[in-house]
Amino acid sequence: NEDRSKTFDCIVSCVYGEGERVFGVVAVLHDITREKEISQMKNDFVGHVSHELKTPLATITAYSEMLCDSEAQDVQTRKEFCSVIREQAKRLSRLIEDVLNISRIESGLIKVSKEPASLTMLIEEQMQMMKSYAEEKNIKVIGQKPIVFDQVYVDKDMIRQVIVNLLSNAIKYTPCGGSMKIETEVDEIAGVARVSVTDTGVGIPENEIERVFDKFYRVDANKNQAEGTGLGLNLVKQIVEKVHNGRVFVTSRVGAGSTFSFELPLATKEAVEAV
Ligand code: ADP
Repeated sequence: NEDRSKTFDCIVSCVYGEGERVFGVVAVLHDITREKEISQMKNDFVGHVSHELKTPLATITAYSEMLCDSEAQDVQTRKEFCSVIREQAKRLSRLIEDVLNISRIESGLIKVSKEPASLTMLIEEQMQMMKSYAEEKNIKVIGQKPIVFDQVYVDKDMIRQVIVNLLSNAIKYTPCGGSMKIETEVDEIAGVARVSVTDTGVGIPENEIERVFDKFYRVDANKNQAEGTGLGLNLVKQIVEKVHNGRVFVTSRVGAGSTFSFELPLATKEAVEAV
């Protein structure tokens, strides 16, 4: 990054010698490149959020106005209008929820309460919740083998969110009749547990794979597969890496499917026994 331009805050003062004679000049340079970048990122984020809020709001406004103006003559049309409004309201609340979660984590204001938990149990729980969604699309869900020591020291709600986001993406971006597989491996020597969610879905082009964890990034080619905010994977990354010192991974092939994984440090046996 040698050739990246930098921004400095500069204060110049004269140094006087005898009488009014200027003896020299002192310049104090303060590197504010990072501050400027952060402020730009914040502005972009606010701009992006407002843009994303506008679309569903415009739809809600238009459809509710049509309802108020009695433009929907029959019961069926009125029902359709109401369901559009409900869908868009849901989209808005998903967006707001994700934005709030991300900014709480980034600002460090979120309350994190970690405790020992079994990853297998957390996954099992979330898989039950997702079952009907997978069934709707006739997607076969292949579970994981039970393992011996899979205790991690985590904020359970946050890790639930990570699992839900990965499972729901696997279902969202896999066409009907496909399958998904959830596996947990434990590497006692490295002291980590790794969860992988593999699907037989549409995949991600190689040149975009780096960007899927960015805020609001949605792969163009996959947009018509499902609705989304482009914030789910960013939340996954922040929860795993920032809050739990873990790591996230992704591999994918267009048309063949993707594997999203995350790794968390195992809870020490002492931490488990202390509870
Ligand atoms: P979204 O709300 O759009 O699903 P995410 O942050 O969860 O946002 O994911 C970002 C993008 O990454 C998605 O829009 C999609 O294009 C791509 N993506 C995520 N998971 C998968 C997957 N399992 N298969 C294919 N593409 C995926």
